[in-house]
Amino acid sequence: MTRLLICAALGIEARAIRRGLPAHPGGTRVIVTGVGPRRAARAAAGWGAGWGSGRGGGPEAVAVAGFGGAVDRSLRPGDVLVASEVRFGGRVHPCPSAPLLAGELARAGLPVKVGPLVTADHVVRGAERHRLAAEGAYAVDMETGPLARAAASRPLAAVRVIVDTPGAPLLSPATLARGVAARRALAAVGPVLARWAAAIGPRTVLLAEPRSFCAGVERAIEIVELALERHGPPVYVRKQIVHNLHVVEDLGRRGAVFVDELDEVPAGAVTVFSAHGVSPEVRKAAARRGLRVIDATCPLVSKVHAEARRFASEGRLVVLIGHAGHEEAEGTLGEAGGSGVLVQTADDVAALPADRPVSYLMQTTLAEDEAAEVAAAIRGRFPDARGPRRNDICYATTNRQASVRAIAEESDVVLVVGSVNSSNSLRLVEVADRRSPAHLVDDTGGIALGWLAGARTVGLTAGASAPPSLVDDIVAALRGLGEVSVEERVIARESVRFSLPGEALS
Ligand code: SF4
Repeated sequence: MTRLLICAALGIEARAIRRGLPAHPGGTRVIVTGVGPRRAARAAAGWGAGWGSGRGGGPEAVAVAGFGGAVDRSLRPGDVLVASEVRFGGRVHPCPSAPLLAGELARAGLPVKVGPLVTADHVVRGAERHRLAAEGAYAVDMETGPLARAAASRPLAAVRVIVDTPGAPLLSPATLARGVAARRALAAVGPVLARWAAAIGPRTVLLAEPRSFCAGVERAIEIVELALERHGPPVYVRKQIVHNLHVVEDLGRRGAVFVDELDEVPAGAVTVFSAHGVSPEVRKAAARRGLRVIDATCPLVSKVHAEARRFASEGRLVVLIGHAGHEEAEGTLGEAGGSGVLVQTADDVAALPADRPVSYLMQTTLAEDEAAEVAAAIRGRFPDARGPRRNDICYATTNRQASVRAIAEESDVVLVVGSVNSSNSLRLVEVADRRSPAHLVDDTGGIALGWLAGARTVGLTAGASAPPSLVDDIVAALRGLGEVSVEERVIARESVRFSLPGEALS
């Protein structure tokens, strides 16, 4: 059990934190340091004592919690600031695990922000607050700096519940009510800090390779970026260009406008079709509206479209193995015209009509073994069924499933970075989960600290639509919980590149 020391400046803060902790909080101690950097430094000088016999060396992790003042105007009284770094006396003390802690606090129902915390030796007011805000600081206190310095290389967390802001000074009629709310928030912070401490320890991170962006996703993003550069915002994109929250938010900030249907697009506007492809009906609707279309459909999806058209033209039933409602499945079924039918499981095969020759295709992002099971059921009922030579599952999906399988064998827990609507990311979770507990996360903030408790080997991968920087962010945050050694398990090196469509360059 990690020896966690929680430092609070005031008795009222310490009592609120203790109230939230279990009756016998194991290795956790809460101390009152007194107000100001000098008292905090004195408290740190004595914190090695009192851990009981045989527990020398003092705390293994240090947290500072209490009230604080905002300098950034986005913070409101009652908000909880998790320090990304502590600035004090000309030095910066990083808190790399801040995004993990912030995510856990948010799940506990607290309004959380992450940003730099400044420790001052006096109460900061007026113009000084504005100066600190201009330097990028979010909040200010008077104790964390010396405690962070004393923590040295130990994991460090600093959490401040905001009680005053530039627009809501400390001495006002609302102070009492704010104080009550802040104490309640601090009580909720205590158990989260205990979970943070339980997740502390040295660990190995096993990176799956390949992971993250595939060639089709890189191409689709480049097409939108190029359209923004050449035509200027807004550039309309039908559906999410790729199924990832961060990619969509980033392109949205740069001027891409994501729409569900083309009737939301002004006539004649530049419009990008997403990597998942569209049905012929959508192309016709775009032509009717005079839209200037740039098609970002992945060439590997286009290949399946061509197969669908060919099988349909031969008078065959075109059975698509895929997921209902997924944009790629809708586009491929559209290409098969009235001849297309979707099956999701082997059980669905029994209901297929037997009035004409049968062919089958696959969504590109399926789990290989499940798709193979459904294909076998089709061939079992229709021995003459025609299908793709091997399967339609793309190289990127195949490689990412193989690499996650490899790391899952060795991991205590597997984290898959991807969004909940990303089919290939969900399949990675399913594949990994057969070997180790696996979880889908959009980013570092989505990782529950409980998953990391006792997990000495963490497998890490990302779906084909998830930016590689999110993986780097997670590794950086895990380093805030103790020493991390990173190893890669390489299943394949990918060098696939797709050329851009002509309309993207004109
Ligand atoms: Fe293309 Fe496969 Fe990437 Fe989908 S996952 S965009 S089919 S390469």
